[in-house]
Amino acid sequence: MIYKARLVVCFLLILSGCSGAMTYPDSPNFNKKTARFQHPIGDYHEKSFVDFFKFFAAYITQESDEKETAGFPVSISTKNDMANFKENVMWVGHSTLLLNHLDVTIMTDPHFSDRASPFSFMGPKRITPSPVEIADLPRIDVVVISHNHYDHLDEASIREIARTQPRVEFFVPLGLKSLLEEWGAERVTELDWWQQVQRKGVIIQPTPVQHWSKRTLFDRNKTLWSGWMLQWNDFSFYFAGDAGYSDDFKETAKRLGSPDLAAIPIGAYEPREFMESAHINPEEAVKAFGALGAKRAIGIHWGTFKLTLEPMKEPPLKLQKALKNGGVPAERFRALRHGEKWPDAVTD
Ligand SMILES: [Zn+2]
Repeated sequence: MIYKARLVVCFLLILSGCSGAMTYPDSPNFNKKTARFQHPIGDYHEKSFVDFFKFFAAYITQESDEKETAGFPVSISTKNDMANFKENVMWVGHSTLLLNHLDVTIMTDPHFSDRASPFSFMGPKRITPSPVEIADLPRIDVVVISHNHYDHLDEASIREIARTQPRVEFFVPLGLKSLLEEWGAERVTELDWWQQVQRKGVIIQPTPVQHWSKRTLFDRNKTLWSGWMLQWNDFSFYFAGDAGYSDDFKETAKRLGSPDLAAIPIGAYEPREFMESAHINPEEAVKAFGALGAKRAIGIHWGTFKLTLEPMKEPPLKLQKALKNGGVPAERFRALRHGEKWPDAVTD
């Protein structure tokens, strides 16, 4: 049954539509010949049909993961809990984080839906429930989006946030503004890598990472992808989004300084030969932590959707091992429970 459903998903994903082409002649990251965005080091993630087929064949035929039915423990937050969410950070799940500092509340890649898919009835299913409802969120000032993959940019979540909190301001990498506006977001700013804006005393800017974008069959790299740095006077937060390992982590710290807190992906990394260029594994996450010179980090991008071949419970275990091997104290780089808050990471 799972096998069949997964097969149909793959087929429908291949058939899904295409979007209009935009050009960005002023962006140094836009290749005018190919009319696509491009990382200076090239497009390492471009795979052949055979590579894709091999991955999907392995994905749809893999043994069911024990955590796919059980999920992970969740720390639920009520509307009341959220009303008191100050000087704190919470991992909502996958790449969704909520952070408050000096009365500014930031959310990253909001995803509250049951699937990371263009379809509500099939595609990678949420295995751990969201610890909070959109209706119960505190007032959000800023939402940053890393890129358009379905596990990071969720239409239903954006629509609901835009509807319930019309004053929220969305920051997106180049090319995504019109899509968010289509979904009802009224205040959307799109930026190129290293382009800074300031809101409520926070400098907000997208930073390069080694990744790619795609939402439909024909729109590969037609929109930009990014990490984000958010800098208050006395605190900085780096959100890596989705990334393969590259010198971008080092370069970001060199240009902008080391963050006090970083959100770094630790999951969705197997099989290595297919995923390496797009998703770091826990060992590389620890390497990125070092390259960034971050004071603390939260491991994200695991335990919420089954996207790849490693067992769902593996990323935090491998993170612990990698931290030990790297001589990094475990309390500096934590894999939080879904819904867990970590105020010390903001205030200390
Ligand atoms: Zn992605």
